[in-house]
Amino acid sequence: MNLVEKHREKCTQCGLCLEVCPRYDDLSLLDLLYGYLGGTTGIDPTSLLRCLTCGLCAEACPEGLGLKMLISPARQKWVSENGLTDRQTMVDPEAENNIFKKVYEMDEIPVYIDSPGSVVYFPGCAGTYINKNMAQAVVTLLEKAGVDYTVLSGLEYCCGAVSVGAGNPGPIRRHGQQNIEEVRKRGAKILLTSCPGCFKAFKEIYPKMFGEMDFEVLHVSQYLERLLKEGKLTPETTLKHRVFYHDPCHLTRGMGVYREARNVLENIPGTELANKTPEGSACCGFGGGVRVNYPSESISVASDRFRAAEKLGCGIIITNCGGCMQNLVEAGKDEKIKIFDLAEYLSLACGVNIPREDQKLLELVNRAYSLCISGYKEPDLS
Ligand code: SF4
Ligand code: SF4
Repeated sequence: MNLVEKHREKCTQCGLCLEVCPRYDDLSLLDLLYGYLGGTTGIDPTSLLRCLTCGLCAEACPEGLGLKMLISPARQKWVSENGLTDRQTMVDPEAENNIFKKVYEMDEIPVYIDSPGSVVYFPGCAGTYINKNMAQAVVTLLEKAGVDYTVLSGLEYCCGAVSVGAGNPGPIRRHGQQNIEEVRKRGAKILLTSCPGCFKAFKEIYPKMFGEMDFEVLHVSQYLERLLKEGKLTPETTLKHRVFYHDPCHLTRGMGVYREARNVLENIPGTELANKTPEGSACCGFGGGVRVNYPSESISVASDRFRAAEKLGCGIIITNCGGCMQNLVEAGKDEKIKIFDLAEYLSLACGVNIPREDQKLLELVNRAYSLCISGYKEPDLS
């Protein structure tokens, strides 16, 4: 039974997927997707581009279905029939309009140690070029814990996961095996990623394409929790805050990792975590290409996270993903609630403040978007 037949047969049209979806509100989308994937009708691509790929619909569906399981293959089909647009090639490391190349031309990029090391830290393209603060915090903590680490950073090591999500499997085919070899060459026992997309690539996609990894693959939150448990990191500075943990969709719903970051936060003196489980978590509005296709709507979805944190009486939102961080920082320009990356917050608790230039980051990234994609308009934040 193919995907469309399976969906048609099991779906009861209950609408629970739409109740949680931040982007669609009409079940007629299902018929559009059945028709398009079944080859009987065409589709307006805007019906596909609104999806954040957040996975909330799949989680809510009593039949284990949801909308994303149809939207993702429909996006791939559309790309195979119509080719890639500049909004999709901007994450391809070989493309002329790659966003990270543009940022690199406009800004200084930190240079990290690259030598043999039993822990290989992989900050990903976002951590290398945009969320530099996030990567610097991780490196600070690895130093502090006395870890034998090295860093594989830069566009040449792009994991390719975001391109796959955009319907372009080229970069993962070109770079995947080479990335694995580079990690091995450094003598890695552990590969550590900041970005949930890189984590998925090494943990789930690469093993299917290239065979099992012979090193452990961990997300930063998992490794930081381990360093705390082993007593290699001791947060001594009291940070007296009630905090809200924003679960990144691709880490929590995508990869099932949500407990470790919470355990890290619960180990910080003075810090009180308001949301102890991911129940009721929602998307930041960044993913699935929505940030570039619908900038204002994307930021408006991020603003909802501030209201959720406010309701729980929190003064700080902590997150754990470059895309979430960027969108929350942009949506939070005029908010009282502050945003921190998990590693950045833990660094602070370990006595190291990593300076951050939010305004510069936002100007840089919006300038890069406007250079990479035609007709880009900055989000309306009013
Ligand atoms: S929640 Fe599941 S069963 Fe209900 S309408 Fe959505 S896809 Fe169909
Ligand atoms: S993945 Fe998210 S945005 Fe896309 S259809 Fe499902 S709930 Fe809606």
